[in-house]
Amino acid sequence: MKKLKLKNTLTRKVESLDPIEEEKIKMYNCGPTVYWNVHAGNLRADVVWDVLARTIRYLGYDLDRIMNFTDVGHMFHDEDFGEDKVESRARAEDKDPIDIANSYIEQILGEFKKMNILNPDGTEITAEQINTYIAQSPKDTNGDGVYKPGNSDNKNFHGWTRAVDHVEEMIEIVRKIMNKGFAYETGQAVYFDVTKYPDYTTLSGQSLNEKAEAVRDEVQVDSQKKHPADFVLWMKRTGKYADHIMHWNSPWGDGFPGWHIECTAMASTYLDERFDIHTGGVDHIGVHHTNERAQNFGAFGHDGANFWVHNEMLVDKEGEKASKSKKNVYFLEDIEAKGFSPLDLRYYFLTASYTKPMAFSWEGLDGAKASRASIIKSLADIYVEDYDGGDMLEAYVEEFSDAVADNINTPTALAVLHKLVVSSEDPSDILRTAEEIDRVLGLDLIKSVKDYKSNQVEIDDLSDEVQGLLNDRLQARNEKNFDKSDEIRDKLSTIGYEVIDTEEGQTVKKL
Ligand SMILES: [Zn+2]
Repeated sequence: MKKLKLKNTLTRKVESLDPIEEEKIKMYNCGPTVYWNVHAGNLRADVVWDVLARTIRYLGYDLDRIMNFTDVGHMFHDEDFGEDKVESRARAEDKDPIDIANSYIEQILGEFKKMNILNPDGTEITAEQINTYIAQSPKDTNGDGVYKPGNSDNKNFHGWTRAVDHVEEMIEIVRKIMNKGFAYETGQAVYFDVTKYPDYTTLSGQSLNEKAEAVRDEVQVDSQKKHPADFVLWMKRTGKYADHIMHWNSPWGDGFPGWHIECTAMASTYLDERFDIHTGGVDHIGVHHTNERAQNFGAFGHDGANFWVHNEMLVDKEGEKASKSKKNVYFLEDIEAKGFSPLDLRYYFLTASYTKPMAFSWEGLDGAKASRASIIKSLADIYVEDYDGGDMLEAYVEEFSDAVADNINTPTALAVLHKLVVSSEDPSDILRTAEEIDRVLGLDLIKSVKDYKSNQVEIDDLSDEVQGLLNDRLQARNEKNFDKSDEIRDKLSTIGYEVIDTEEGQTVKKL
């Protein structure tokens, strides 16, 4: 079996992964927060981890994979005494926090489905599943803010897990950490004592002093806290949090869990106390993942994951990270409104390595759309209705799997696909091999080819009106008048035609 190589933040090197159990890999992906719409930056990470999961299965390993929804305890600015993000929206909209979380989970899974992102267990996301997952969610059955876990199937639903379903497990881990002497209680909270874990700053590479500096500006602190970098495991429902909506009884009184403990609880419950891969954004290295490692050490005496793998951010042309506070955030809705398919966006993300920041631009997305269209067109040219599989072209498959196994090198993988589709090999062998490659890339190639062929319109058959609009659009584009060309694109779409720009020029298909 081919070895998987990944960049391990712990060692800062690309290393070969030797699974703990033979031929099986266990992976935890820190998942979405559910208090705002996911944006293109989030989707980039989700596509990367989807491709990683598909690669692991493609290489022949069994994969146990968990991805969580953070529906309680995630504070603004990662501060101990910030405001809970889900609760804050619940208050602003006068809604139940679980309804807030559910509405975003529904939206996120819907967008994942459009982007051809699979469930963590490798199955396809369906609309029916999304409805079931929402219907079975945790509930405040007594109306007192003590949320009961949802239906038991929901706790690990195709690999999705949510924090509110696992408060019991979190309390259990905090108890273990306390019993082993790694935590202490004050009037306000239970804290992890970072000075007890000698390896605390290995992941971030910061010194403990730097870490203490970083938290110095926090507005509110607990005077009983021993070290500035100590972090909350359990927050009591007192002081600032006396009215916290979601709360549970615990050995340290009524309260709610700190943010980081959910991942340690869910990973150890469904994967093990030690597993192979833990992923997340580079913005999680300094606080969230550093703290997760500490918790795992406190509870079990060792790190949780052997490989800590981090995706770089989506940035704008100036190199600024896409964030809600800046105006440089794009949502899938905006992208679709401009005439792009979610799969164009998926393709676009695959053109860059996850270890590098990616600068989002409309021109870049245009280029990705044209490249994806050229692949589909090449395949459509050789596709026949009665195609039912040819032989695998081993040389291409080998080059492809080498690329993805080598630290998820999707740019090279795409290059192999481009080379394949224009090769002079037997058409059905090309199609068969493209299908194989697509198991990992997830571009839904054969379906796209079928759609393309069934919707393709011969330009000569178009009405004079459509012909005229296409001519005007071509002229506008030649004059670099993109506003006008977009306007004409929209007009065509209202009368039922989607314009596709290919290397050979524009073409249309029926919507
Ligand atoms: Zn996490």
